Amino acid sequence: MQILDGAAVSAHIKEQIRLETVQLKEQTGKAPHLAAVLVGEDPASQVYVGSKVKSCEELGFGSTLVRLDAGISQEALLAEVEKLNANPEINGILVQLPLPKHISADAVINAIHPDKDVDGFHPISQGRMVLGQKTFLPATPYGIMLMLEHYKIDTTGMNCVVVGRSNIVGTPMSILLSRNSNPGNATVTLTHSKTKDLAGFCREADLIIAAIGIPKFIKADMVKDGAIIIDVGINRIEDATRKSGTRLVGDVDFDAVAEKCSYITPVPKGVGPMTICGLMKNTLEAFKLVNK
Ligand code: NAD
Repeated sequence: MQILDGAAVSAHIKEQIRLETVQLKEQTGKAPHLAAVLVGEDPASQVYVGSKVKSCEELGFGSTLVRLDAGISQEALLAEVEKLNANPEINGILVQLPLPKHISADAVINAIHPDKDVDGFHPISQGRMVLGQKTFLPATPYGIMLMLEHYKIDTTGMNCVVVGRSNIVGTPMSILLSRNSNPGNATVTLTHSKTKDLAGFCREADLIIAAIGIPKFIKADMVKDGAIIIDVGINRIEDATRKSGTRLVGDVDFDAVAEKCSYITPVPKGVGPMTICGLMKNTLEAFKLVNK
């Protein structure tokens, strides 16, 4: 079994982005600039946004953190997005999800200009992805594709099972892996909460992508020997042995599954850092759209 080391791969890719940014700065006098919008005080969201802003600093990107009160109206939030759309210094915009219940995430995502949609959630980005056109890919599936590419895992002809069908992970992942590309060219089954005999599908899989949000959902008896396991889940569970009283686990029962599989991503330091890589690569591309 080999660990798919998201921290190491992401450090490698980030160094390439940093070097390209130095060159772009010399040529244009400018650097890519990401705006992150954080609504409310959700602790996990604060950590995610914090690490995105920190990555910008490491890469020589500019960043703007827009912090808004949880009680902000949808109209006022849309006006903030409009301001960022209109600001020529901003190349990429991300609005950290989830949003408070009174705000429609769809309305906010739709308001982001597609040329600045570095999370790849806008319907235009997703439509282009489905058609195989150049676009901003959703950051997490993009990061997973970069990881498969880095480890030279040839997914051609593989039987792939994606568990979870969210718009930001499972559904786009299933599309990317079934495209005529490498990584890609897999035969993909997209499974979800209404799937009958999910374990049976998983047992047939050469590659499992778990994006469910339930701690340790994928058990060893659901995995065939030699399978490749990508664990997207980030779940906080209680752990009395830790000072904080909690720890992060994925959607895969790591210790038991690791004994059977050929490759596996850990949680943390697996898919998480690759998501940031996907976001940073998109931000660099957004900059290049307007600074040829
Ligand atoms: P989501 O809640 O939007 O979707 C979960 C999906 O799981 C749904 O499609 C649902 O049908 C499916 N599901 C739920 N219960 C199921 C069951 N019993 N059997 C089969 N399928 C079931 O979640 P999401 O946004 O896709 O995120 C999934 C997980 O990935 C979460 O833990 C989230 O925190 C994590 N995540 C991690 C990253 C990262 O960078 N590592 C990025 C995004 C999300």
